[in-house]
Amino acid sequence: MAVACAAVLAVGAGPASLGSTPRVDQPSAARGVPVLMYHRVDLRLSARDPITLHLTVMAPAFETQLRLLRDAGDRSMMLDALRAAIDRRAPLPGRRVVLTFDDGYEDNYTVVFPLLRRYGFIGTFFVVTSTIGTRDHLTAPQLREMAEAGMEIESHGVHHVDFSLLSPAAARSELARSRKTIEAWTGRPVAYFAYPAGRYNAGLERILEDLGYRGAVTERPAAESFARRLGLPPR
Ligand SMILES: [Zn+2]
Repeated sequence: MAVACAAVLAVGAGPASLGSTPRVDQPSAARGVPVLMYHRVDLRLSARDPITLHLTVMAPAFETQLRLLRDAGDRSMMLDALRAAIDRRAPLPGRRVVLTFDDGYEDNYTVVFPLLRRYGFIGTFFVVTSTIGTRDHLTAPQLREMAEAGMEIESHGVHHVDFSLLSPAAARSELARSRKTIEAWTGRPVAYFAYPAGRYNAGLERILEDLGYRGAVTERPAAESFARRLGLPPR
């Protein structure tokens, strides 16, 4: 059964949410880099159902957030750079933020991508491969173009399902197939996964590690203070 992506603004960048590959025992290394989670960024409110409405940020508000970040001196950081810094146990540079976008909506290309480039930011996009090329979603050529422009394109599964309920074999298949498909589309390695609705368990972490993923993101309230700093209502 498909699950809705949880409407939580903040996702954690701590060691648990970045997976156990390898386990990081100094969580302080990850503090200070908020990982923001977006879904739809719409020009006109096109969603009808309550869940999708709740997952939508209007384009002017999104642009305002990017402008505030830029004017405050914040710069975007790729998830892979954050992982590398954690692995090195290096102090993280100040004023960095990871901007993530779940579910692969078409507006991620038509609205988000040009705005990110205008303000000099990089985004990390978690896509569900079975929905790519379907109505309201990104296409494979759009993903390639975004990847070639420096965006991170990562996995959100073949299907948008609760991974904590999948059998190990089914989870392994989802994780392996989605990565292979995205890599074929973008020509770039996939190393990160976003758990649909943030649901995961220890078995999934082991499978991710075994398959060579470098981390996964879930939802933790780690960045709520960041949202407040921007004057946004916590979601
Ligand atoms: Zn999702």
